[in-house]
Amino acid sequence: MHRLFVAPEALQDAVVVISGDTYHHLSVLRLRVGDEILLLDGCGGLARGVLRQVSRSAAQAEVLNRWEEKEELLPLRLLQGLPKGEKFEWLLEKGVELGISAFTPVVSERSQARGEKFSRWQRIIQEAARQSRRPLLPTLEELRPLSQALAQTTETLRLMLWEEGSLPLNAALPSDIPASCALLVGPEGGFSPAEAQAAVAAGFVPVSLGKRILRTETAGMAVAAVLQNRYGDFGTR
Ligand code: SAH
Repeated sequence: MHRLFVAPEALQDAVVVISGDTYHHLSVLRLRVGDEILLLDGCGGLARGVLRQVSRSAAQAEVLNRWEEKEELLPLRLLQGLPKGEKFEWLLEKGVELGISAFTPVVSERSQARGEKFSRWQRIIQEAARQSRRPLLPTLEELRPLSQALAQTTETLRLMLWEEGSLPLNAALPSDIPASCALLVGPEGGFSPAEAQAAVAAGFVPVSLGKRILRTETAGMAVAAVLQNRYGDFGTR
């Protein structure tokens, strides 16, 4: 059944109005009156619906039944030094598949990229969540300076990938499942020593992935997979 994200308020109604990007998606799929669809509010609410009306700019679906779904995942925020070009878009798509629940793009000293494409990034996240069948829609924060992102971090486990660090990943991972995790990854040029110090002061544990230098878009994804294996649904739960 085709999956479509709608606003949480819209899913409350007995007849859900589908407009905007979601309507566009529905028309690309050439869905018609009588077709069944799965509506998701992005917060765990789902509804099976049947299309009752499809016009030129909106559609209406009658809700047949509703339920809630949870994710057996580690709540994982990626604080990512914004990379150049399309790398961040690739990273958003793969990150959603790998179970990242929040993305915070950051500008740091050695960032070469600074341009924000918020609505485009949000669309990529939504499409990846749809494709990978996630009931929860990962959130996207606005681009912000590293110092601000550090100050706003509330996750219990905080890891900074730092090629100059000496603590191997396994030594930094607690034996009990953490309530949540923030993963900080530098841009192509890495972090300056002052930034690494600031991250440590904000409670981040600097972690080394060994002698090989991974590209920024590889490093975070590799560790996301390790974390979901250890604490999420890849392996243990
Ligand atoms: N400045 C470095 C490379 C930075 S790689 C250089 O040019 O030599 C980009 C980011 O990927 C880093 O900031 C870090 O967060 C992560 N990373 C890559 N390889 C890593 C490794 N071996 N250990 C830990 N983090 C790594």
